Amino acid sequence: MSGHTGEDRMKKSKWIIIVVAVMVALMAVVMPLRRGARLRNICENRLRQIYAPMRCCVPMANRLTDGDPLDPRQVAEFIRGGVIPRCPCGPEYEIVWKVGAAPPRCPYHGDLIGKDEEKEH
Ligand SMILES: [Zn+2]
Repeated sequence: MSGHTGEDRMKKSKWIIIVVAVMVALMAVVMPLRRGARLRNICENRLRQIYAPMRCCVPMANRLTDGDPLDPRQVAEFIRGGVIPRCPCGPEYEIVWKVGAAPPRCPYHGDLIGKDEEKEH
């Protein structure tokens, strides 16, 4: 009798191990995907934080027109912390410091906000 229940317990613990292993395997696949999507969102927000003052506040405050050079320090004044942010994955953004230039681009994630505008059209 005692041997029988012991075997049952063994079977149960085997099942638990299998279930846990499957869950761990699923997490291992899903977590990096979610993490990647989150970092991509952070990156996009940071690009927008840079691009917004480049498009309106700085040119308006300084009466600049398309093609005029932008001062990164003036753009940074409109960004929280006063610093031009970087991609959460590390690289510095590729930014053309001119009024009316293409939006800043992430070397890691690509043209996150440029693509958005294409979608709107
Ligand atoms: Zn990025």
